[in-house]
Amino acid sequence: MLNDKIERLEQRLTQWSGQLSPLGLASSLGAEDMVLTDAICRLDLNISIFTLDTGRLPPSTYRLVDRVYERYGRRLAVYWPDAEAVEQLVLAQGMNGFYNGLDQRRACCQVRKVEVLQRALKGKKAWLTGLRREQSPGRQSIALEEPDELTGVIKLNPLVDWTHEDVWSYLKQFSVPYNPLHDQGYASIGCEPCTRALQPGEEERAGRWWWEQAGKKECGLHGGAPTIVSSTEKGAS
Ligand code: SF4
Repeated sequence: MLNDKIERLEQRLTQWSGQLSPLGLASSLGAEDMVLTDAICRLDLNISIFTLDTGRLPPSTYRLVDRVYERYGRRLAVYWPDAEAVEQLVLAQGMNGFYNGLDQRRACCQVRKVEVLQRALKGKKAWLTGLRREQSPGRQSIALEEPDELTGVIKLNPLVDWTHEDVWSYLKQFSVPYNPLHDQGYASIGCEPCTRALQPGEEERAGRWWWEQAGKKECGLHGGAPTIVSSTEKGAS
């Protein structure tokens, strides 16, 4: 079953790299993106790999950028937020203003992620993500290929039907490097102050923006501005 999925993944990536060039993988360096990174590098495909450095990532994520180079000989392209925009953001809401409400959180994600992604995708025909339907209720309707209003670029989600177990079986099978935070209970890894380990029984995205009510937790990169508004459990950090 997994071997079939891997074969389909390799066929799709190979086909897209020919038909939709220039094509880029937006990697958060999470487990799913490491599957895609490994497949792209193993097949030596003409697909660029880039990451968005929000300035608030955990140290282990930065270390993984270099581990990717050591393992595959590929440098990830790293895109940063506009320095002046970050200065204005911090002036307006403080260093950790995102804990104070949805508007502040959206503003931070806009400056540190969304604008950066839009810039990184300029000139690209398509972008790859590691989204899976299983990750959250808000992701159950994602398609393999879909138009992306945010970027104006075709969005490709080749792991839509992969399970959590598929991802981890792949990483083991190919001895892929991954972020050690996953071994400490982090299912999804984003910015350090906005990510925590899962508690027993929680769904995969529960560790992101945990002080907001459960719902459609997205940073804006994958559509759907968050529907959550309260900050009942304001996080410490
Ligand atoms: S995840 Fe948190 S720190 Fe990162 S950009 Fe969004 S609000 Fe800012």
